[in-house]
Amino acid sequence: MTSYKLGPEYALARDSQDPLRHFRERFYVDADRIYLDGNSLGLASKDAEAAVLKALADWKRQGIDGWTGGERPWFYMAEELGAMQADLMGAKPSELVVTGTTTVNLHALVSTFYRPSGRRTKILADELNFPSDIYALQSQVRLKGCEGGGNPDLILARSQDGRTLSEDDLIAAMTDEVALVVLPGVLYRSGQLLDMERLTREAHARSILIGFDCCHSAGAVPHHLHDWDVDFAFWCTYKYLNAGPGAVATLFVNERHFGALPGLAGWFGCDKQKQFDMELTFYQAPGAGAWQISSPNIFSAAPLYGSLAIHREAGMEAIRAKSLDQTGYLMFLIDEILTPYGFTVGNPREAERRGGHVALEHPDAVRICKALKAEGVIPDFRAPNVVRLAPVALYNTYSELWQTVQILKRIVTEGLHEQFSGERGTVA
Ligand SMILES: *Cc1c(COP(=O)(O)O)cnc(C)c1O
Repeated sequence: MTSYKLGPEYALARDSQDPLRHFRERFYVDADRIYLDGNSLGLASKDAEAAVLKALADWKRQGIDGWTGGERPWFYMAEELGAMQADLMGAKPSELVVTGTTTVNLHALVSTFYRPSGRRTKILADELNFPSDIYALQSQVRLKGCEGGGNPDLILARSQDGRTLSEDDLIAAMTDEVALVVLPGVLYRSGQLLDMERLTREAHARSILIGFDCCHSAGAVPHHLHDWDVDFAFWCTYKYLNAGPGAVATLFVNERHFGALPGLAGWFGCDKQKQFDMELTFYQAPGAGAWQISSPNIFSAAPLYGSLAIHREAGMEAIRAKSLDQTGYLMFLIDEILTPYGFTVGNPREAERRGGHVALEHPDAVRICKALKAEGVIPDFRAPNVVRLAPVALYNTYSELWQTVQILKRIVTEGLHEQFSGERGTVA
């Protein structure tokens, strides 16, 4: 545990000793503002930009031949970009593919791995998950014809404190009626990191399959999806993986399940040798690639060549070490400086139970968020009372965190937030 100190000099000293400090130059960081929203949309990097321009140049020069010609043939891009995440996610290269979007991948995987039969007809999820995941699961349950008044086949585990989930409660809910468990790796609001290894072990001990939504954990915390024996996982690439708005997502299928017939099949899930035979029999790809549906969105996948190169250079362990240290520092500053003004830390404090952001709670969070933006700090707001602050190891500095806390203090002591309305924006 680092013993942090107050004051701008300490923050500057930490910046000068930061082994990852040079990565900041690779990103488009606006000198006039402090960007702490990398958990919603990571910043653009020069590497990602160059990778998109390269894909565009291939299209200009090669037209259709870009699929198989050029330096990065588009036909193999999805598998190649999946394989580039093997270390990051602790998976075998063949278990990963870049495809679709988070919610579409959730549908593709659940339509494969949710096989209600006999007494086992239920999906277990949780009431704190991102609504899109819940909507998808509700519709999957409906499609399998197991409803019967109000989705009794989707169980949402309750939170005791409205912020976090107890692994013990989740395990207790894994009854012999549960066929499948789908949970987040890190909770989007409170930033709680779940013990994915333990939950997987306990699910499997009860003959239940389990999948994780890693949107808020991919690129923020190390994973060992293969060794943990997770059945499947999926995540977006526009948060901590910095691949740009709406970038193509990633999915993981444990190699134990290779050969299982995809629930939502399409021609890009074909064995590549067979795809252009145009036969009406689906010969599926041997690995996770079988869960692709359509032609990959090349210009929204290409940025990953750049952003993943940065991640691989920095290394997941170093990113996590700095992230924990920065969130620890931010919590220290909140405790020391902001507690008297009604702020509290809503995320778990233990390193092994928290992800990449700090969930700062305040009854006036909506207006405080607006005031922060006006003062040049970009956070985000999650209803009803959370200001999410994500120091991203690749581009945020300790000095920015010091300044942010000073600005927060000024907002509440001078009442700068009082001129704003308490209505939240459309994109909060
Ligand atoms: C960001 C996020 C999503 C977003 O879904 P899209 O399909 O990419 O729009 C879904 N689930 C979780 C848990 C998220 O954090």
